[in-house]
Amino acid sequence: MWVLSLEPAGGETARRPCSAASTRQRRAALSPLHSSGITTAFSRGFEMASAEASRISEARRDAVFGRWVVFSPARSCRPTDLKSHSPANPSPAGPVGGAYAPAPPKPSCPFCAGRESECAPLIFRVPPDGSLPWRIRVIQNLYPALRRDVEPPPPVLPEGEAPPDEPGERAVPGFGFHDVVIETPRHDVRLWDLDAEGVRDVLLAYAERVRQLGEHPVVKYVQVFKNHGASAGASMAHSHSQMLGTPFVPPSVITRLNCMKEIFDRSGNCSLCETRSKDILISETPNFSAIVPFAASYPFEIWIIPRQHISYFHEIDQDKALDLGSLLKTMLQKLSKQLNDPPFNFMIHSAPFGLSSSCLPYTHWFLQIVPQLSTIGGFELGSGCYINPVFPEDAAKILRELDCSV
Ligand code: AMP
Ligand code: ZN
Ligand code: ZN
Repeated sequence: MWVLSLEPAGGETARRPCSAASTRQRRAALSPLHSSGITTAFSRGFEMASAEASRISEARRDAVFGRWVVFSPARSCRPTDLKSHSPANPSPAGPVGGAYAPAPPKPSCPFCAGRESECAPLIFRVPPDGSLPWRIRVIQNLYPALRRDVEPPPPVLPEGEAPPDEPGERAVPGFGFHDVVIETPRHDVRLWDLDAEGVRDVLLAYAERVRQLGEHPVVKYVQVFKNHGASAGASMAHSHSQMLGTPFVPPSVITRLNCMKEIFDRSGNCSLCETRSKDILISETPNFSAIVPFAASYPFEIWIIPRQHISYFHEIDQDKALDLGSLLKTMLQKLSKQLNDPPFNFMIHSAPFGLSSSCLPYTHWFLQIVPQLSTIGGFELGSGCYINPVFPEDAAKILRELDCSV
């Protein structure tokens, strides 16, 4: 494995000396955002300026990636005022029920129903019966980042038999698999417009394809991800997601496993099984918790975590996929409503294939949703630390209380 250097991970050791509650009370006392007094425009402006200056920043380290994040509320407007200035899809569809009513394809979109011949080859479709209209298509990427038709590196040897990886620069052929999941035949439907069963089927399609790729002797990891909106990296507006099967374990996966291992070795606990403060909880279902992580790198970032300790996403069954589909739909609806349909990415963080059984107690898969509300600057690029203007407890409260049923 390629192991990157790590700072020691001690879990959520960045906790300030006082309790979360007392910090919040202090922030509430200092912040004009939490005060209910009526002020004149002048005095309010003065109060804002002086209170902003004295609001308390905090650095936190998370217990999964071991990353430091600076929380700096003074750098932002009120958390509730934070909105996307470049909504991803200004003319969304209305809610779609179980039936997939036909919609005219967009003339230039190869992902629309009726334009299948313009796509790269099909891998599988849902339903498999070709005489029925499709609801989901898993296809090869026409412009793959990694290619399945180049010489693969030698197959992975079992642990202990593999020669040690040489440090330093190295180049290998760009072998791998890059697939696209078209989530709906309709151009005007977003993932969260589907009903829970529709989202479940998309998740099951991911799982099926990850399982297939895991059977390839050279593929070590599959990154499932979704880009929504141009500034989140999407080049196609039609609702889709992607996955890349790589012949190496990506660096952030290694960082995550090393961080979680260190915490497990010290405490005997999996970082993602540990009891979480109710303050960062958004919603819970029988099988999953949706939280704003303790050290969220991005404002309104959400993690959906299986409540049971499970290392591999692709082992998900129908019932859990339905539960996850319903929660994912709700979280995407909440972000869309609260943040003005922001561009976003989501990523499924799972375990690499062929992990030895001794690693399983500290690997726990989860789904991370990142709304793209700001661009990163030199501090982030230089240090790898992010500045987040919204405390996770504040973002979680807003999302928890947001009603998407109307
Ligand atoms: P994104 O750029 O995140 O919107 O993902 C869309 C992906 O679809 C890109 O990686 C494109 O390479 C890929 N793509 C574009 N057109 C086609 C097509 N006709 N068939 C298969 N893949 C395509
Ligand atoms: Zn389309
Ligand atoms: Zn766990």
